Parts: sequence; structure tokens; C-alpha cells
Amino acid sequence: DLVKDEDLEIIHDLGAGNGGTVTKVWNKKRNCVMARKLILVDAKPSVRKQILRELQIMNDCNSPYIVGYYGCFPVDVHVGIVIELMDAGSLNDIYRHNGPVPIEVVGKVAEAVLHGLMYLYDVHRIIHRDIKPSNILANTNGEIKICDFGVSGELINSIANTFVGTSTYMSPERIQGAPYTIKSDVWSLGISLIELALGRFPFTDNQDNENDNEFEALSDTEEDPGPEHDFDPDATLPLSTQRPKLPPADTTKKERRKSKGVSLAGGGHTMSILDLLQHIVNEPAPRLTSRRKTFPQEAVTFVQDCLYKDPAERTSPQDLLASDWIVNSKVTQSDLKTWALSTVSED
Ligand code: ATP
Ligand code: MG
Repeated sequence: DLVKDEDLEIIHDLGAGNGGTVTKVWNKKRNCVMARKLILVDAKPSVRKQILRELQIMNDCNSPYIVGYYGCFPVDVHVGIVIELMDAGSLNDIYRHNGPVPIEVVGKVAEAVLHGLMYLYDVHRIIHRDIKPSNILANTNGEIKICDFGVSGELINSIANTFVGTSTYMSPERIQGAPYTIKSDVWSLGISLIELALGRFPFTDNQDNENDNEFEALSDTEEDPGPEHDFDPDATLPLSTQRPKLPPADTTKKERRKSKGVSLAGGGHTMSILDLLQHIVNEPAPRLTSRRKTFPQEAVTFVQDCLYKDPAERTSPQDLLASDWIVNSKVTQSDLKTWALSTVSED
């Protein structure tokens, strides 16, 4: 039996993205907490009905790696979707509040996402299309699950125009207009894993450049990196190029100063979203390396296998699941529980 909006009492906001806002709610009928996402849908009634019909596919998506679905309904100009509350929040929230995610945990994130992607594709022929840290959720039971996959073509169409900021996890072939495949999700996973392990979005052009000391050293010694100072991967991107190959961003000086990355890079410039897309297509893929940390070779290889720019070379989810990094992991669900609890109890 599906949840209705009148069953729900608002508790508090959990977060907001480009297309929607998510609220923690109390379900009076079932006596439990849930998460309700409201998506602003600018479409005529027939299209809205079609969206609600298409979203019913989520009802058949049952996997320990997919966030549970409880129902959807129209809420004035929005579409409401009620899903399982993940009480540790998204991996994006987690690393922004707690710093880089331990590499062994990142391995379990990779495993969960791959299982989720394979389930969606093998059972429902669904390609996720939006893998990124904010769509990977964790709970204090030590579970990691994915959400916000592309079940409804009509919904994708109706919110597509507001979507610019999210394209930064896009694979080179997608940027160049090729259709989505499960390999594009693998690319997005690779980018997300580096982001979690480094505690920052990986697309600065200084991957092999001495300058990145500055950024990392400073961000690590900072006492309380509040969210408002955080580097926002969806906004403009800091670059500390010595010889800029890309045109300068069209931001004003004042706007640029607001970005922490730029002041740290000292004299660098920001990259607009178009510059970033060009960068992804034209430059070598980022790697899992940092001057301040050594990552296990198995992890480095895994990420590299996710980030072949040619989708034909890129490893499939199935083969990635059979890789040494995943197979040799010693992390248990109880370890993940301890880790998840440590991330929520810290404020
Ligand atoms: P974008 O809109 O660019 O895709 P996003 O994924 O952050 O960004 P939303 O999907 O609207 O945007 O989610 C907003 C935030 O709400 C997430 O970042 C996460 O912190 C929180 N959130 C979403 N779903 C849940 C859930 N089921 N349980 C707990 N927190 C959630
Ligand atoms: Mg989301």
C-alpha cells in the first residue's frame, strides 16, 4: 500500500538540490520516519500524470543497494516522492562535514554502487544517469544505497533545463553527445570515488602539479570548514594553471573571490562549467593520487579502470566487482555501522 501526502507530518529539511527539496517526515499511519522529496515540475496535467505513472516502476525496485520507495503523488506544482530515510545522509554531506572518507570505506561505497547499478540494469534495464556523492546515501545500520536514478523519461525532460550544475560527473562520451550507457555511470562512479577519498572534487587541473600542496595542506589544517566555505563542485571550479590552456571563466572578480579554491590557489582562476566540460573531454582523466596520502595500489587501479576515456576500454560493473580491491576488502557491515555512527555523532 502506497504512502499518501496526508499521512505525513514534516519534521525538518534534509537538504535541497537543483531540482528539489528533501524533508524528513513522520508517517502517522505507519509510525515511522521517511524522506519526502518535492520536485518542481513545470508541465501540463497530462505530462504530470505520465510522470507519476512512470515513477511506479520504483515500486518494483527492491534491492539492498537501492533506497526504498514508498509512493508518489502530486503536491500543487510539485511531484512528491516518498523514500526510505537514510539517517547518515549522502556521502556528499558526510565528507563535507567529516573530511575525506577512509579509503577502505570508499571501497565499500564502490561495491554498493556497482551492485545497485547492476541490479537496476539487469533487472529493469534502467541506467542510473546521475551517480554522484549526493545520490549515494548511508545509514547507521551500515548500509550504502543509491537513489535518484532515471526511471521517468518524462520527469527527466521536465526538469532538464535546470540541470546544468550536475553535468560535472558526466563522462567524456556523454559530453560529446553519445547516449547514456551503464559505462557512463562507471565514469561518474570513478569521479565520485576520488572525490570521497580526497575530500574534494577532483577536477582541478593540477593533478600532476606541485601547486596542489597548497590547496590540500590548507584545507586540511583549517579548523572548522563550515559548509558555506566549502568548495562547491557544482559552482565554478578553481584552477591553478601556470599556463592556462582554457579561456578564463566569465565570472567577475568579486564572484571569484568568494570561492575558497581560488584564494588558496593564489593567482589561479576559476573554470566555468563549459571550460570544465572541455577539460573532461580533452585532458587526461583524473587519478586517485594525493601528495599527502598514499592509497593502496588496488584502489588506484580500480579507479583508473573506471576512468578510461574510451567507454569501450572502461571496465564493466561486473568486472569491477570481481577486482582485487573489492574482493580483498576486509570491511564488514559492522565496521560500516561504526563508521556511519561516527559521522553523525560528531556535531
Ligand atoms: P541535485 O539536485 O543536483 O541532484 P542533490 O542530489 O543534492 O543535488 P536532492 O536529490 O534534492 O539534491 O537531495 C538533496 C539532499 O537531501 C541530498 O544531498 C541529501 O543530503 C538529502 N537526502 C536526499 N534523499 C535523502 C534520504 N532518502 N535520506 C536522507 N537524506 C536524503
Ligand atoms: Mg539527489
